[in-house]
Amino acid sequence: MGTNESGAPALPEDSRQLSREDIIHLLRSEGKDRERLFSLADATRVGGVGDAVHLRGIIEFSNYCTKNCLYCGLRKGNSRLQRYRMTTEEILETAHIGAEAGVRTIVLQSGEDPFFTADTLARLIGELKERHDMAVTMSVGERKKSDYGLMRKAGADRYLLKQETADPTLFAKLRPGTTLEGRRRRLLWLKELGFQVGSGGMVGLPGQTVETLAEDILLMRDLDVEMAGIGPFIPNGDTPLAQCAGGDVDMTLKMLAIARLVMPFAHLPATTALASIHPEGRQMALRCGANVVMPDITPVQYKKLYRIYPHKISVTEDGAIESIPRIVRMILDSGRYVARDLGHGGKSVAAKWQNRRMAE
Ligand code: SAM
Ligand code: SF4
Repeated sequence: MGTNESGAPALPEDSRQLSREDIIHLLRSEGKDRERLFSLADATRVGGVGDAVHLRGIIEFSNYCTKNCLYCGLRKGNSRLQRYRMTTEEILETAHIGAEAGVRTIVLQSGEDPFFTADTLARLIGELKERHDMAVTMSVGERKKSDYGLMRKAGADRYLLKQETADPTLFAKLRPGTTLEGRRRRLLWLKELGFQVGSGGMVGLPGQTVETLAEDILLMRDLDVEMAGIGPFIPNGDTPLAQCAGGDVDMTLKMLAIARLVMPFAHLPATTALASIHPEGRQMALRCGANVVMPDITPVQYKKLYRIYPHKISVTEDGAIESIPRIVRMILDSGRYVARDLGHGGKSVAAKWQNRRMAE
């Protein structure tokens, strides 16, 4: 790729082809070049997925976890955390409240909690699909392939399993007992099983560099993910990374913008983590390529215990359901609208887009 007068990379016509060096250059961009990156990402978002913003209502149904990830407050070694599990009835009731408020996707997320066997989860998914015309995304961590198969068979549409970091050494250090290769293998299984697969990572992890961030983008592009959740790492005082600096808004927005350039049709959330470190975090993300917001609809008595990191924005909101009208208002104030469809993967959007271009 060449450069423009200011020395910044002149983006190729098809920005999906950005090289590792281009991405590193863009991650280092400042001033006018950085603004240009953001406006190109916004234009790519308009062309790829349009102005609609999809609401994905997240229910954090258990904060038990058998894993010990160094960055996360739910790690099993955190004895200060009061643990909870929602009952099946509570989960179904919460999903119902979300559906009534206009949410078309429910994301079921938890720590890695073996109490919820694949059979239990499959029954829950079946019940949700029976009661509502909505998409179901699962985010329950690393499981056996047969477990994923049961969830898919029960009707789950999507699975969110972030790579967290594409640096294998850092990954193994931050997630004891697991490997990046194991994560990648699971992402491939999930694709094979027909899930729309979401990945993503944290920005600002200790030991991360712009080079490894570029690898994160390339990994997501190689995996051809339908969704990419990119948010800042926020240190949690009850974890071994308590004293670390954490990610900043600027680098997170650059990662998001580059992700949009290389994946024009992917669903990219304006993450809760970004909104938690900046009051305008979601609005800024929506201007840099994001097209999804994930309101936390977990009942308030539980969501304050799903303490992945401190000052989670949704915890300061007064209750599960009030947050949705507020988020809808923010979306409309940003000049966007709330999608009414189920918000399935960008591939169908891509096909539509290609047909439109062929017709032109
Ligand atoms: N246990 C499942 C897993 O690990 O995939 C799902 C739950 S986990 C809490 C969901 C996400 O929280 C992770 O993918 C990670 O990116 C994010 N997370 C954990 N600790 C974080 C922190 N300190 N700052 C920002 N994000 C964090
Ligand atoms: Fe458990 Fe997920 Fe937190 Fe790791 S990131 S400790 S697997 S909840």
